[in-house]
Amino acid sequence: MKAAVFKQPNHPLSIEEIDIEEPRSREVMVNVSHCGICHSDLSMLDLGGAGQLPIILGHEAAGTIESIGSDVTSVEPGDKVMLTPLAVCGQCYWCSRAEPTACIEAQSFTSGLRPDGTSPFSDNGQCVHRGLGVAGFSERTIVQESGVVKIDQDTPLDIACVIGCAVQTGVGAVFNSAKVEVGSTVLVTGLGGIGISIVQGARIAGAEKIIVSDPVAERREAALHFGATHTIDPFNDELLPKVLEETGNIGVDYAFEAAGVAALVDDCVNASRTGGSTIIVGVDATLATVPILPVMMATMGKKIIGSLLGDCHPQRDIPRFISLWKSGKLDLDGMISHRVALNDINLGFENVRQTKGIRTVVEVATT
Ligand SMILES: [Zn+2]
Ligand SMILES: [Zn+2]
Repeated sequence: MKAAVFKQPNHPLSIEEIDIEEPRSREVMVNVSHCGICHSDLSMLDLGGAGQLPIILGHEAAGTIESIGSDVTSVEPGDKVMLTPLAVCGQCYWCSRAEPTACIEAQSFTSGLRPDGTSPFSDNGQCVHRGLGVAGFSERTIVQESGVVKIDQDTPLDIACVIGCAVQTGVGAVFNSAKVEVGSTVLVTGLGGIGISIVQGARIAGAEKIIVSDPVAERREAALHFGATHTIDPFNDELLPKVLEETGNIGVDYAFEAAGVAALVDDCVNASRTGGSTIIVGVDATLATVPILPVMMATMGKKIIGSLLGDCHPQRDIPRFISLWKSGKLDLDGMISHRVALNDINLGFENVRQTKGIRTVVEVATT
């Protein structure tokens, strides 16, 4: 079967014929329909594959079950499913404390391999890694049963796929990590798929003010459509004075850093009010650090919260997000600005690199 494979640093992805195993007892094989390109995929390219080459990237996918292992009970062939990057075990220290995104087994999938060190993919006998446990840029993939969530047969997969990463991460950060209340004030830095999802989550949660900052005018304009109330152009305006101006010199209740730029975490902490929270959602792959002033954090009671995949429990939250979409509260369609065929996936990555639009979706099944 065909997959887009990242084989060599500083080279584009190449479309290859790849071998795939049959699903093991607790695994499922999925025919991938559509998969969004996330900034984390681009970071993997820029990091030269982070020691996981060759690798099939793509972790924001939806598809149809092709076949199931002998012990799988929650889905059957023909079911439409969302794939989720963290396939939880349900039994470890973290799962038993209702913290699924920290699941020890799910975290091991970030290695691109199963917990036993194998991959379901190979190329002439050579192991091919399964990016973030999903490998959505492939006609077929194999994941744990807990890595899929069954969805209604009438759900359009080309739209729903963005729930996998952008919506789980963004709306989940608002609902689960920060628990934004009605009437809150919110700041969002970075308006890609995740930042726009945070804006939507904050609107749905009833935030009174949603201030957004992004250097791309087109994204700021789009954010207003999704629920932002004030925009900041960081090339022309300083963030802190603008936030203080909009919040009566108080600062925001919740500041979300979604650009993946370490220096913006510092800006968010400064723009959050006494007792307010900064939620780190973006991943700064450069490993840059930020200064933290303990005296300020302690005396002002400021909080910093790390949020992975929006602290979502996929089996609970994915159906929740689909029903928000069906009721018209969550706009998924508007988030998809570009579509590319699997054969043209490198053009899609260029969109992400050039911050074009909000989300580029790869049409995997139709190519
Ligand atoms: Zn992602
Ligand atoms: Zn677990």
